[in-house]
Amino acid sequence: MKKKLLVLLIVLVLAASMIVATACNDSGMIVKNKERDFTQATATVTYKDRAAQVDKLELNATIYNFVYQYYYYYQQGYIGQDSYQSVLDNIEKSYDQANESLAKSEAYTLKCIDELYTLVQNGTDANAKAKAAAASTVGKAYNAADRIKEIESVLPLKDLIAAVEAYNKERQEAFDSLREEYEKEIANATVTSKSTENVDKLVVTAPWKTTYEKGESLVENGLAVKVVYKDQTEVVLERSDYTVTGFSSDEVGEDKEVTVTFGNTTETFTVDIVAALPSRPAIPKEDEEEEEKTVVPDLFEVDLDKQIEEAKTTDATLYKTLKEVKRRLEKQMSSNYRSYEYYYLSALKEQVVTACEEIKGKDASVTAAEITAEFTKKLEEQKQALLLGSTKYSDASDASSVKSQIVHKDGKVFYVRNLLFKITDDLQAEYDEFKAEKVANDEALELYLNGLIDQTKLHASNVEYDKDAKCENEECDCIYCSNYVGESSEHKEDCTCVKCPTKKFVDSITYVNADNGEEATLNADEEGTFNILTVLNAVCSDLKALSEADGTTATDMIKAFDKWTYMLNDDDGAFSALSDGKVGYGLSMDESSYVENFTALSRALAYGTAAEKAEWHVVGEGVGSFGWCYTNYGIHVVMLSGYALEDPEAAGVTDLGGGLYAISQDAITDYASYKPATDDDLAKGTLIYEIKEQLLSDKKDNLVGNFKKDFYQNTIDQEVKITYYSKTYKDLIEQYKQD
Ligand SMILES: [Zn+2]
Ligand SMILES: [Zn+2]
Repeated sequence: MKKKLLVLLIVLVLAASMIVATACNDSGMIVKNKERDFTQATATVTYKDRAAQVDKLELNATIYNFVYQYYYYYQQGYIGQDSYQSVLDNIEKSYDQANESLAKSEAYTLKCIDELYTLVQNGTDANAKAKAAAASTVGKAYNAADRIKEIESVLPLKDLIAAVEAYNKERQEAFDSLREEYEKEIANATVTSKSTENVDKLVVTAPWKTTYEKGESLVENGLAVKVVYKDQTEVVLERSDYTVTGFSSDEVGEDKEVTVTFGNTTETFTVDIVAALPSRPAIPKEDEEEEEKTVVPDLFEVDLDKQIEEAKTTDATLYKTLKEVKRRLEKQMSSNYRSYEYYYLSALKEQVVTACEEIKGKDASVTAAEITAEFTKKLEEQKQALLLGSTKYSDASDASSVKSQIVHKDGKVFYVRNLLFKITDDLQAEYDEFKAEKVANDEALELYLNGLIDQTKLHASNVEYDKDAKCENEECDCIYCSNYVGESSEHKEDCTCVKCPTKKFVDSITYVNADNGEEATLNADEEGTFNILTVLNAVCSDLKALSEADGTTATDMIKAFDKWTYMLNDDDGAFSALSDGKVGYGLSMDESSYVENFTALSRALAYGTAAEKAEWHVVGEGVGSFGWCYTNYGIHVVMLSGYALEDPEAAGVTDLGGGLYAISQDAITDYASYKPATDDDLAKGTLIYEIKEQLLSDKKDNLVGNFKKDFYQNTIDQEVKITYYSKTYKDLIEQYKQD
């Protein structure tokens, strides 16, 4: 059996590679014949006088994937030999079924085109009507180019843009991988024309960037290498003439050597590796309405030609690369009997279906009565589940389930934000040792810790700086960027690079002084750092001033706190502690696995007495109130950011008995995203809003589902004409069956 499998795989691979092999053949006849063979229709489809077809190549690709999947399952042991064998035995049937399903999906695409066409014709835009009418393929024979024009003429602008973007992205990726391959080839093949004999020495000018954080990669900008021969002639080397080895940023160290090698001659330059500085994420952008795009981008190939044209006069290497990779991409496509047109049409067909279904779903709406009914239904379901004990109370501490969880036992779950001013590992070890001696009482310990903290400095992040950003600027003006194109070794203060390492941190912190309500500024020292205790005071003062200001809401407090977190926090976990990836921690009054003081402070914020709150320097009341505490790690500033279950005594919560409480529909389930209701919409971040969104999405799915169902169950029998040409793919079936 093993042998048979192998044979089959070979056949499969042959089926695919045969195409490539024949296409490479110079004999144009064979290529043309093969192409004609593979572009033959295996099914033709007509709906309302529009025609479409499935071709042999498409069908073969579908079957190839289908069989390969089973082969993979078989190989992995998911299915037995018998099951796999039966797939092969039934290959003829599979071909027929695949052909049928491809044809039906073509028919559905025609339906979507027709729907959109009708919509345009029923609209008021005379221009669009005329354009769509002119591009209509009704009554015409199938042709890919015409289909493209037709779909372009009926797609709403935003969908046309989306289709072009999807197509461009797909082709760009294919292009990029060929480009990478090509550039590797070039790098490997480059044989230096400069003699490596009779070399006296290398003269190396080190790169401009000489200090690296642990984990950073070498930036070669500024690196220049010159070879001096024994007769004292000098030649400047190209980057491809020499290799650079030995750079490692795994360990901290000074004057670490990096080696430049040309032939048998080496020379070194040195770099310093320093400890990694804090790497905090950028503050998430508020979901601002993205500006709607109105311009359809150039198609991939048009844009590529423009780039080539531009490079022709400015960059000979780039020009050569782009031209060569373009040639390879086109060769790859034609080897598979595909073209730009094919891929573009695929993207359009996909989008025409998406656009049509979206329009079908648009009619969905939800009434207030439906929301209430859904609320009552869920309430009852969850109550029963909790009474039966099938839902663990701890589920409530999962932030994402709070939105659907309507009933909780009263264990008082709540959420806090955390900002940690961390002492260094060395100082922490010192502290732990001191503590282990057990000679000091709590007060003395705190004093000792305070002294250590006073010695710790911190970097303040630029909250806009995205460490994961990629510099897209191909001619970047930042000397630390791999896309830098200039000659100067001087770093421009106002460089435009999103990746610029000098923009990671800020050298001043502005805050409001709560004592006088005035703005104040802390400036960094020469190392770009701040004293932790000074910063702690600034943060607490700023938050206090805000909480005392007129009209400040809990949301305002949380937002302000978040900004400080993204700027100063050194607790990695804080950024992803909750299951939905938001900042914050879920805690309960029942149990907590967090550090003692942190937990005590958090509980005081949520449900503490006035005395408890005073102990932790708490400012404010309820959500948005905050305090701070010492722990082994340093100092934590903590803000209460929400309750999983509102205070049972507070309005809007119904006691259902048996330790169960129902949150009202208006209860805020996510303070950070809370926005008051408007004329058009319910208040965001509330339970009622979540329910409405869920119902609306279900209804949309339903409308689209019905549209599809009606097509596949009725229309396809009554109005669609499909003709199958099974003879066309007989030869492919034979190939599978041969062995
Ligand atoms: Zn820069
Ligand atoms: Zn850049």
